[in-house]
Amino acid sequence: MKVEFHRHNIEREDVEKLEEVLDSLFLTTGAVTSEFEQRFAEYTGLPHVVGLTSCTAALHLSLLALGIGPGDEVITTPLTFIATATAILHTGAKLVFVDVEPDTGLIDPAKVKGAITSRTKAIVPVHLYGTMADMKALAALAKAHGLWMVEDCAHCIEGERDGVRPGHFGDVACYSFYATKNLTSGEGGAVATRNEELAEKIRLLRLHGMNKDAASRHGLKYRHWDMETLGWKYNMDNIHAALLVRQIERLGPYWERRRQIAEWYREGLKDVPSVLFPEIRGKGAYHLQTVWVDPKIRDEVMHQMQKREVGVAVNYRAIHTLTFFKNQFGYKPEDFPSADEIGRKTISLPLYPKLTGEEAEYVVEALRSVVSLLC
Ligand SMILES: *Cc1c(COP(=O)(O)O)cnc(C)c1O
Repeated sequence: MKVEFHRHNIEREDVEKLEEVLDSLFLTTGAVTSEFEQRFAEYTGLPHVVGLTSCTAALHLSLLALGIGPGDEVITTPLTFIATATAILHTGAKLVFVDVEPDTGLIDPAKVKGAITSRTKAIVPVHLYGTMADMKALAALAKAHGLWMVEDCAHCIEGERDGVRPGHFGDVACYSFYATKNLTSGEGGAVATRNEELAEKIRLLRLHGMNKDAASRHGLKYRHWDMETLGWKYNMDNIHAALLVRQIERLGPYWERRRQIAEWYREGLKDVPSVLFPEIRGKGAYHLQTVWVDPKIRDEVMHQMQKREVGVAVNYRAIHTLTFFKNQFGYKPEDFPSADEIGRKTISLPLYPKLTGEEAEYVVEALRSVVSLLC
């Protein structure tokens, strides 16, 4: 048996919607992008959604629109995809990492507290693997110190913790529709926020700072557009939006299926002491199925799983241990010991709605036999 690491969820109804766009006049940002934005706003419970080309763009524009730049400090976690950190660097602000909680891999609010200075402007929590960071504690800190909160929700559209969903404690939520994410258009992203002014700034910044996009320029009488500010080219087009609109309605059943698979994994591996699971707090989004093994055997476990034709991945090695960050900032692995350790022991197993019960069972049996061989 061969078990892919990921298989996407694009269905016939998404392709039909895409065909409607391809048969229409407007391929770029227009009515279907707006339709997506409206539906995603309804889903998230946040009134303003702006469709973008990626979550990287969402993080970058959110920070810029909040006025963050050189001289400011932004606190985040080193245990995330590099985009969380590079988006901060691209604003010119100082990147400040703090360590994670050893049992969840989530940013540690106590460490955040210790890192706040008079220059700190924002916190960027990441809802890693689909479990929300402790937003209640972080929101209290943000309020006490007058900080913005930009949530990296790339793993967590569906989660909830302490009765609160992503983006509701923070000022703005950033989403990814990258190929392996829970909602996907191959590439794509969005911000969702209650802050209308912020959403309007991001809307301007996503298209060169132009005050009219192509769809609103299309009319009987030519109207001049103006460039009001220096912007970027991060606008979501109708083509990508078409793949997303009907998928949103399937998020519920997809989540239920991933939760079921995650339960099978936990059940099937609960008597294997050398395979540990990160804690889930509240309602997890079940984006990634992470297991933790001894760092000494991690790479060999992965190799053996691949030999048994099971797709595996690492999400993530701690960012501060990567070459660019080591060279640029002089980090040592032990600067953030919990993130470093998790980065050396983590393995992601296949987790997606199309995974069958037999495939999940095969993954469990493969992992059981591999660790019994190596431990
Ligand atoms: C995927 C991901 C991103 C980047 O998303 P893109 O849409 O590829 O830019 C950012 N943060 C996390 C945690 C991610 O997993």
